Amino acid sequence: MEKRKRIVILGAGESGTGSAILAKQEGLDVFVSDSGKINPKYKEMLNDYQVLYEGNGHTERLILNADEIIKSPGIPESAPIMRSIRKKGIHVISEIEFAARFTNAKKICVTGSNGKTTTTSLIHHMLRKAGLNIGIAGNVGRSFALQVATEVYDYYVLELSSFQLDGMFEFKADIAILLNITADHMDRYDYNIQNYVDSKFRITQNLTEEDYFVFCSDDEITIKELEKIVSRAVRLPYAYEKKEEDVAWVDRKEQMHIEFEDVDFSMSVHELALKGRHNTYNSMAAGIAGNVLKIRNDIIREALMDFQGIEHRLEQLNKVHGINFINDSKATNVNSTWYALESIKGDIIWIAGGVDKGNNYAELSELVRKKVKALICLGKDNSRLLEAFSDKVDTIVESKTMTEAVKSAYYLSSKDDTVLLSPACASFDLFESYEDRGRKFKEAVREL
Ligand code: ADP
Repeated sequence: MEKRKRIVILGAGESGTGSAILAKQEGLDVFVSDSGKINPKYKEMLNDYQVLYEGNGHTERLILNADEIIKSPGIPESAPIMRSIRKKGIHVISEIEFAARFTNAKKICVTGSNGKTTTTSLIHHMLRKAGLNIGIAGNVGRSFALQVATEVYDYYVLELSSFQLDGMFEFKADIAILLNITADHMDRYDYNIQNYVDSKFRITQNLTEEDYFVFCSDDEITIKELEKIVSRAVRLPYAYEKKEEDVAWVDRKEQMHIEFEDVDFSMSVHELALKGRHNTYNSMAAGIAGNVLKIRNDIIREALMDFQGIEHRLEQLNKVHGINFINDSKATNVNSTWYALESIKGDIIWIAGGVDKGNNYAELSELVRKKVKALICLGKDNSRLLEAFSDKVDTIVESKTMTEAVKSAYYLSSKDDTVLLSPACASFDLFESYEDRGRKFKEAVREL
């Protein structure tokens, strides 16, 4: 009898557990290994499917005999186990690469430095409204692998991070969407932006002339890289101001247009559910995808109008004594904070800080000087923020808890000002996650 292929899965989180269940279902020899404690929910799932696993450490003997390794996107190449795996030359893939082998569904894939979850969710909303049998996976919700194992969908919209793309080789999207590229996660890419750009462009690999590549032609890094690569896919660029090739744009009267092949779509930017320039880009990308799939104009329009935004992304809270509060806790890099500051009218009390991933704050200087009345630093180490902004903002306060930060912000604000939590940094110094940070912000605002 032929030996069963041995798949070892590193990391027993959402994607690892899903991969294990799918691999088991496909009759493969599966083993899961996690260096830390395994969440009881995932233990239960692994037990239900009789998958063998270990937690609190890696047993090399049981890992290095794998034919193929599926690595959770959270595990860095620098982890000791990864070094041993690379030394042995075992093929390492991501959950997405693995799961895609077992489904024929059409795949709409979204990547970019910012706006992935928003655009992925918006496309899902639109295509469901149109009656397509569509699943949503990747970085959002339940893992792709688990859904491939347990559901039957005709379409998937997948949110792909650069870490997932790094482990993708044969995978092919039907519609590939690249929203933007700005420096992020530089710590994981040897502080070399080209490594990160290469990773994002993996979304275009294997595209054929029947596939589509949707991208923002206002994004300088994307455009520069495109000069170097050859892709056979149909190109569908969008921009704020129309250039020759763009198929979506916004005109002087603030009408958004989408025109290509036999598509002729337009609507006012003011009707879009998602506000701010960045979200107009996201809506254009989603609208193009909807048109590629031949969704009716009235359905696309309705979906772009009635989409409910997602928590922690420029989330508007209730006013307190005429003061606006916005929770943008998901802004973990400078670019997303730039769009938040840009989209707000009037004076801003800005709460920022946390774990700095090598930020270049110079990009924010002008907006901060113009709009920010006070800066509340909320991090263990605020030195980089202080250094960048002490000559640009009159009032700077340091705080170590969210309650303290919100109270200071409230005290410093007057009617019609906006208190904005848009940290431009990761949250792990003072919070469990950006969700935890956003929830604590909302609690503190409710208690004012
Ligand atoms: P991602 O999944 O890529 O992290 P999200 O949709 O969760 O993106 O949004 C993350 C942050 O980026 C939020 O603060 C949001 O307001 C901002 N954002 C959303 N879309 C864009 C965009 N196209 N360009 C820049 N920033 C964006």
